[in-house]
Amino acid sequence: MIDWPVLLSTYNIEFVDSGPSTSRGNVYVRCPFCGAADQGHHMGISLSNKGWGCWKNKQHRGRSPTRLVARLLRITELQAATILNRRFGTSLEANTTLLDRARAIFYPEETKQPVIEPPTFPSEIKPILPTKRATCRPFTNYLLSRGYDESDIWAVCGKYSLRYALSGPFAYRIVIPVYDGFTLATWTGRAINSEESLRYWTLTSDPLKAEAWNLPPATKPITDCLFNEPALLEAEESHATCLFGKVLYDEQLDKLVELSKLYDNAVLLLDSDTELDSFIMIDRLKRYGFSAMKIPRRFKDPGEMTMDDVRDMLRSNKRSLVVCEGPFDAMRVDYALTQ
Ligand SMILES: [Zn+2]
Repeated sequence: MIDWPVLLSTYNIEFVDSGPSTSRGNVYVRCPFCGAADQGHHMGISLSNKGWGCWKNKQHRGRSPTRLVARLLRITELQAATILNRRFGTSLEANTTLLDRARAIFYPEETKQPVIEPPTFPSEIKPILPTKRATCRPFTNYLLSRGYDESDIWAVCGKYSLRYALSGPFAYRIVIPVYDGFTLATWTGRAINSEESLRYWTLTSDPLKAEAWNLPPATKPITDCLFNEPALLEAEESHATCLFGKVLYDEQLDKLVELSKLYDNAVLLLDSDTELDSFIMIDRLKRYGFSAMKIPRRFKDPGEMTMDDVRDMLRSNKRSLVVCEGPFDAMRVDYALTQ
């Protein structure tokens, strides 16, 4: 039996199960067949496998869970059947029509995309916890070197769910989880050793490469993600985020523009010596109402600023979405603003 609430939450699909015009024994999602035409939750799904149906369009109904899941997750029915069977022990078969097969030939990029479940951390990547103080010492020392006070370290590790590894591909890196909405999408590891030539190493979204490393694949490339996304969605106060690199990708721009609507201000925070290579990004964001702000000249980056310096700098920007240059800058600013 398919546990729809579990499935929908796993893939971050919004659903309602109570309230006006819902009936018991069903959950409701935005109809994936109506698409943008459904601004509510008009697709009812029976929790006891009696099928699904849309209130807006009578043709949007059926009994096949694979057909609905394929449409909701924008994958093929075969992939949907695989997910459902693996997760819920069902023995569904994909109902591939001639049209599906033709589509696979003519639009391979649409159908070839393998379905990827949210990754889970391998056992060697562990949370940085005060109960493991001694083992975590090299990692907490690194955070001290980035300007945190001893007294803030554990709160920072907890707030951003920071992890560490002593073995495996992420050994001696501080691992930063990266979310798509509220679902873990990928993670990146910052080397704590300054000799390490690759400062950041990120979980790949290529399933074959991931397998070669004995790691789960990321659901998205990190360039489609923003740091701190779950917090950004709770916009009751100011929050900071960053892109993971100097380039602003379209997915990130979409997310930033959507998220900025939840805040009163949107600020792009730049290091005092930011160079020309960021200018295209600044330009693009300015078009969407972001203002650019350089940190005071006496600091090189937010890591050199105290919590009070950060708060002073952004004092006149209430309820702001602040975009920083890197994840450690963003963590620092976010932590200062939400303390
Ligand atoms: Zn519909």
